[in-house]
Amino acid sequence: SLRVRFAPSPTGMFHVGGARSALFNWVMAKQSGGTLVLRIEDTDASRNSPEWTEGIIRALAWLGMDGKEYEGPYFQSANAEKHAEAAERLRDAGRAYYCDCSREAIVARTGDQHKGYDGFCRDRGLDAGPGRALRFRTPDEGQTTVVDLLRGKPVFENAVLEDFVIARADGSVTFLLANAVDDISQGITHVVRGEEHLSNAPKQQLLWEALGAEPPVWAHVPVIVNEKRQKLSKRRDKVALEDYRAEGYLPEAMRNYLMLLGWAPSGDREIVPWEVIVEEFRIEDVNTSPAFFDVKKLRAINGEYIRALPVEKFVAECLPFLEEAPFDVDVSVFAQLAPLAQTRVAVLSEIVQMVDFAFLDEPPIDEQSWKKAMKEPAAAILAGAEAAYRDAPWKADELKTRLEAVGAEHGLKLGKTQAPVRVAVTGRTVGLPLFESLEILGRDRTLTRIAAARA
Ligand code: GLU
Repeated sequence: SLRVRFAPSPTGMFHVGGARSALFNWVMAKQSGGTLVLRIEDTDASRNSPEWTEGIIRALAWLGMDGKEYEGPYFQSANAEKHAEAAERLRDAGRAYYCDCSREAIVARTGDQHKGYDGFCRDRGLDAGPGRALRFRTPDEGQTTVVDLLRGKPVFENAVLEDFVIARADGSVTFLLANAVDDISQGITHVVRGEEHLSNAPKQQLLWEALGAEPPVWAHVPVIVNEKRQKLSKRRDKVALEDYRAEGYLPEAMRNYLMLLGWAPSGDREIVPWEVIVEEFRIEDVNTSPAFFDVKKLRAINGEYIRALPVEKFVAECLPFLEEAPFDVDVSVFAQLAPLAQTRVAVLSEIVQMVDFAFLDEPPIDEQSWKKAMKEPAAAILAGAEAAYRDAPWKADELKTRLEAVGAEHGLKLGKTQAPVRVAVTGRTVGLPLFESLEILGRDRTLTRIAAARA
């Protein structure tokens, strides 16, 4: 069975790309009865923070991966001794050598900023010492072929793989070595990670081999891009899982959508129950072309998941958002409004604007809405509505019939007639079904607001 791992670096907010990698690995582990290992790659002390690590663990749990779902977390920093040993072993075996070339010296020799290391120190036989880094000696000839489940067998010419650094002059080991050593010692069989690491695969495979280990099977999943086909970036795009959660995306919707970034279930479906995903997902079927992070589609999927909730659950999911709102919510009133709202929100945070009118003392003033709705013959309609509603049986149907009659006197259809009443009572031109809302709001408040709008 498989041993896969998710190996994030805790250097910032946990983002959607990391979440997708974690999910792919998790599903692969589940399908094979294997194990998912969580390894926090916390070796860049200047950029790490425990807060980011906690954020990762929290976000994974939110998506369904709590501590029972993985082995670990292991911390890369705890393996420092193993990393140093491996570096030494490679050096003792003649697979690595010390180098004191500065970046400037290398560029001066090669005349090219982007060219790799030129092998200057390969045969100088330098000992360890201050200012000396340890480089891995890549083979001069032959090829390194990695097995990638998405890409067949990419072949890399060893001659173009530079002698890369495995331990820096300060003694710290590089990502390339630490990552390979940890994967080996943790018994990883399949490395599933982002495409940005594809170019590291041949170097790491050489390290696995040099350390006497059987290389893993690789799978490099495609980059995620925005609507302009640019790689998602935290400066440009909303990428933090935490932000989606805060906006009111449901974890079930989020993980469903994330699985579609590069993969498609059978039958062109988008809403796919998790069990079906776990059943159908095949890493081999993941596409190599960039995956478009389509926020509109995500919203639509989230809306579907919201609609599928039992209404009590919907109420419960909304309450945290309403607690943050600048008004006090009467939960029993909200429970009446909830069925009307449930079909109309795509993300839970939208609930606040949708029901605020029922909890504020006065309707919110949205200038645009008021201007738009309060045109002739709005005054007459409001006067008519006030009169018609004073003694009406307080039922949505009845309120509708009466307002229809008011509109008819002015030759208006119901849609036009509703607008000033809706704005007078709710403050906005769009919202929940009007007459049901009025029924819930009650006669007194409805009439007070209509009167206030007329004044
Ligand atoms: N810490 C690396 C990253 O976050 C892990 C790469 C890998 O999965 O091998 O990109």
